[in-house]
Amino acid sequence: MSDTYYKPLKIAENIYHIYEPGNVYTTLIIGEEKALLIDTGYGFGDLAAFVRTLTDKPLEVVLTHGHTDHCGGNYEFPTVYMNLMDVPTYLWYEATQKTLIVEKFKRDRSAAGLPPVWPDDFDEKAWGQQHTRHFEPLKNGQIFDLGGREEEIIFMPGHTKGSIVVFDHETGLLFSGDNISESLWILFDTSAPLAEYVGHLMDIKLLPLTGIVASHRDIIFPVTIINDLLRTISCINPQTDRGFVHPRTGQKALKHREPCEAIENIQYIYVVYDENKLQ
Ligand SMILES: [Zn+2]
Repeated sequence: MSDTYYKPLKIAENIYHIYEPGNVYTTLIIGEEKALLIDTGYGFGDLAAFVRTLTDKPLEVVLTHGHTDHCGGNYEFPTVYMNLMDVPTYLWYEATQKTLIVEKFKRDRSAAGLPPVWPDDFDEKAWGQQHTRHFEPLKNGQIFDLGGREEEIIFMPGHTKGSIVVFDHETGLLFSGDNISESLWILFDTSAPLAEYVGHLMDIKLLPLTGIVASHRDIIFPVTIINDLLRTISCINPQTDRGFVHPRTGQKALKHREPCEAIENIQYIYVVYDENKLQ
């Protein structure tokens, strides 16, 4: 594996947002005694070995939710923590989506004239057969004490029913997975109702936040992104919103967008939703 496959972006003291080709980030938070890895990415490369280049402290791993771009590397670690509400999501992705994910990458990369997304030594068949070794259940409000800094797990059903976010008490940063970003995907069978998500977003807004770090972006979102999201959700209208077809699964949904006020270089906030999630 090329040693430049993963690229660490230092976003705060002892916090690395680790870029993985395929456009997903995992996050490593290093305390005085332990380190916490948030998500495991696709698992096309050797993330576990890369993490060891950043810290030699004992490592815990938590998952923001059960989608393959966040869980694909679980097999590299002896134990991962997840909200067990996302086990059905995880199992469905393992059983039906891994092959489709690989095929879509092949199609997209060759159409764009780009080299494969995975490292040279990637074994597609072996990857397809790798699964999580052991899940430990997360609890809402659980604290990971890393020594000198505490990470709080907050359940936040929305994107998936078992989605969680991680609040770093030291910096006030919130690690939001796919649950708070400039686009909200709340179209899956395993997504929570939109009203439930909004309730959780209102609760999150009350935390002493300084910024939000999402899984598919290299920026720290200002906290005002929450207001942008709430405003966009309030403007949803199934009568006038455009149809949307998921590029991998073919699932039909609706898409609403509003101008983004929080950040200069992001034009729109998107909500991709299933009408059933409005009930
Ligand atoms: Zn996701």
